[in-house]
Amino acid sequence: MRPEILFPLFRPVTALKGVGPRLGSLIEQAAGAQVIDLCWHLPTGLIDRRLRPPVAALPDGALATVTVSVQEHQPPRHARLPYKVVCADDSGALTLVFFNPRKDFLERSLPPGATRVISGQVSYYGGEPQIAHPDYILAPEEAASLPLLEPVYGLTAGLTAKPMLKAVRAAVADAPELPEWLDSALAERERWPRWRQALEALHAPEDESALTPEHPARRRLAYDELLANQLALALTRRRLKARPGRVLRGDGRLVRRCLEVLPYALTGAQQRALDEIAADMASEHRMLRLLQGDVGAGKTVVALLTMLTAVEAGCQAVLMAPTEILARQHYATLQPLCEAIGVRLAVLTGRDKGKARQAVLDRLAAGDYNIVVGTHALFQDDIAFSDLALAVVDEQHRFGVHQRLLLAAKGEGLDMLVMTATPIPRTLTLTVYGDMDVSVLDEKPPGREPVDTRAMPLSRLVEVVDGLERALKQGARIYWVCPLVEESDRLDAAAAEERYAALAQRYPDQVGLVHGRMKAAAKDEVMAAFVDGRIRVLVATTVIEVGVDVPEATIMVVEHADRFGLAQLHQLRGRIGRGGQRGTCLLLYAEPLGETARARLGILRETDDGFRIAEEDLRLRGAGDLLGTRQSGLPAFRLADPASHQDLMLMARDDARLVLEREPELDGSRGDALRVLLYLFERDAAIRYLRSG
Ligand code: ADP
Ligand code: MG
Repeated sequence: MRPEILFPLFRPVTALKGVGPRLGSLIEQAAGAQVIDLCWHLPTGLIDRRLRPPVAALPDGALATVTVSVQEHQPPRHARLPYKVVCADDSGALTLVFFNPRKDFLERSLPPGATRVISGQVSYYGGEPQIAHPDYILAPEEAASLPLLEPVYGLTAGLTAKPMLKAVRAAVADAPELPEWLDSALAERERWPRWRQALEALHAPEDESALTPEHPARRRLAYDELLANQLALALTRRRLKARPGRVLRGDGRLVRRCLEVLPYALTGAQQRALDEIAADMASEHRMLRLLQGDVGAGKTVVALLTMLTAVEAGCQAVLMAPTEILARQHYATLQPLCEAIGVRLAVLTGRDKGKARQAVLDRLAAGDYNIVVGTHALFQDDIAFSDLALAVVDEQHRFGVHQRLLLAAKGEGLDMLVMTATPIPRTLTLTVYGDMDVSVLDEKPPGREPVDTRAMPLSRLVEVVDGLERALKQGARIYWVCPLVEESDRLDAAAAEERYAALAQRYPDQVGLVHGRMKAAAKDEVMAAFVDGRIRVLVATTVIEVGVDVPEATIMVVEHADRFGLAQLHQLRGRIGRGGQRGTCLLLYAEPLGETARARLGILRETDDGFRIAEEDLRLRGAGDLLGTRQSGLPAFRLADPASHQDLMLMARDDARLVLEREPELDGSRGDALRVLLYLFERDAAIRYLRSG
């Protein structure tokens, strides 16, 4: 149960004074639906009207406030010319300029002879200072109401600055004083304010520094968020590790046979990872290991050999994939190998229904199958194993921590191997996976040539389409990736369908289409045709991004590459040039290309080292976009900025560890406050892992 002290923060924004349903829904779009969202909607800019020089000293371009007396109105001679009002102070003249003004309004607000306080942006025209359309025209007795410093907030269409500012102010005013969860020595050393003070400071910035991630108040709130995250991860990990693991030791018989059947030798990195995994499995602790390897590094075979070890020990193993396509693909890859060495492999996804599904379930429960490959369909309650000892989770970032636990419940002391192709920078690994043990495949299988990557403007699309002709004659297989359209599956699909229609007309019978809204069976059918070479051009949305392996594919065209995240493009590009032939990747971008987009495409051309790309991506864009928001499993931080708060992440991890050593159930006084923190960041699930959750 959420502590009562937080109730005011978790009310809908419409509970605030002056926020009705219409304004409320606009605020919801811009910031979020609850009062706490407004508290965390930090200013993006600052309007500073404190500059009050004499007129003669007004700097060009500055925002300034002056006190002047109104001298003369100069109505325009033509309708297209501006209306001018000449004002002055002791030092000189200032002209106020208005286009298409309401004359009566100007006469009322600027009567000749009156003193006025004017605030606005200064510009010089013919050597004379002007202010066009001043923001404020006030009588001296009203001047106190002029906001000298005003934070600027992110808005949305239909929402203007003033009501937003008022709503944020109301939210912050309502924010309760919360118990201090920070270690007092830490807070003192960093000179961090208390939670509520920090909130107030950030929403009433006194200068630009309060807008930066380095400001102490911002760092404090960021730290709170990171600490909540680390604490939740630590609690989850403890829960997973709570029950002892099983000692799984294979006799090497299946692994050896499999290595004989494989057409290649393992890389050094694969062997190292397998050794680390085997040591985990043989120990009586539960394995919680992350296998991190760039696209094409060869994770699948590591997964298989790991599962074979569990099978040798007389147990079952599952391999979980995030999508139907991937699950089927893993099955297709592994089935011949398993068959050759006498291991029984099943596949189970959401598509399996009725009797066929039941037959698989029966055989799983009877221990007839040694290994099952599937999607999250494997989480369902009616699925029982005879003796499940190992779960391998591929492309983990699509699954949540909660799902990991559901899976863990399926086997006593289940060992877990989580595989990710996303080369997350070290510090981020920490925020996503907490304290998992990590093995890295930092060496690619031999014979891979780097993909030839080129960027060109979309205006050359016709040329690209024409160019496919020659490649197709030479038997090439081609991915054509269509852009993300405003985070909408439906629009993605429409864009892909359109491109498909155009390409299919140009190259009849050679083009296929897959996108996220197609039925699974139809997707599989198209993928299978592409794998066999019955079709040679696969038009796709990013459903192909993760893991699909068609070694014959050598060309990839990415439309609107400027809309993809860097890491995402890297993942996509990893789909080609896997078969020993040099791949070509054409990144088509819309013009004009922004500076950041240009830098990103440049990095892709320069390197195919996923870790370097991830670091650069982080540097250029911050973590929010690191994986492309849609596929990201990174916690969406509101306050922490992984690019500037890396030091805080490490501190938060150590802090969380220490706290749980001292107060394992968070039942001391700091523990109470930390529970509030967890609820504040809605890490409620983690609280349930405490004895008195
Ligand atoms: P990922 O790490 O992206 O999942 P895969 O497991 O799909 O990579 O492997 C990519 C390709 O490399 C596959 O075609 C696989 O057969 C091949 N491969 C894996 N390990 C080796 C190796 N040691 N030597 C040569 N090829 C390998
Ligand atoms: Mg893979």
